[in-house]
Amino acid sequence: MSVYDNIIRLRASLPDGVKLVAVSKFQSEAAIMEAYNAGQRIFGENRVQELSGKKPKLPDDIEWHFVGTLQTNKVKYIAPFVSMIQSVDTLRLMEEINRHAGICNRIIRVLVEVHIAAEESKHGFSPDECRTLFQEGQPSKFKNIHICGLMGMATFTSDSEAVRREFRTLRRLFDDIRSMPTTDQSLFASLSMGMSDDYQLAIEEGSTMVRIGTAIFNS
Ligand SMILES: *Cc1c(COP(=O)(O)O)cnc(C)c1O
Repeated sequence: MSVYDNIIRLRASLPDGVKLVAVSKFQSEAAIMEAYNAGQRIFGENRVQELSGKKPKLPDDIEWHFVGTLQTNKVKYIAPFVSMIQSVDTLRLMEEINRHAGICNRIIRVLVEVHIAAEESKHGFSPDECRTLFQEGQPSKFKNIHICGLMGMATFTSDSEAVRREFRTLRRLFDDIRSMPTTDQSLFASLSMGMSDDYQLAIEEGSTMVRIGTAIFNS
């Protein structure tokens, strides 16, 4: 199926309240425009250089989400325009995003990345570290970022029960943090989990945002 058809079909299949991020890393501007013409406006990229190169060539009303590993020294390149940074995996990075958002006189929305997978290679705070971070009220001291929720990636495995357990762990953490007195619930409302192979499971376990690449772009 074409990119256009994939977007139409996917959007129709998502429940109300679940946002679609089209992960367009490695994809051409033409492929992105095909998704755009099917009505897609939120796109995700995982490399600063690639995102900075694509952004000026594509429509201004695209909301760019950054979903990859972000080095603190590269925040400045995307801070002027990025809509959301989903992959905040250290307090130092959070500080740096806040600082550059301040320089640009804007607010950047962020998600805190939580490590839920069995694989060591994945990034993020452990669930305990994440809970402590919010209990200590750290995030609320940053004036130029809005903490909008959590992001996580499940283990790459065909064991769907294991994947489900990981998503469930993340949902529980999300609910715990949302109910803390220091959390601004009007902002903290997004739980980004689910990719091409596991987004249905993620939605069953309470995802509000799925990040899909392969199932849209066929590669
Ligand atoms: C590439 C990527 C995705 C999309 O993965 P697919 O399996 O192609 O849907 C989602 N999230 C992150 C962080 C990614 O890097």
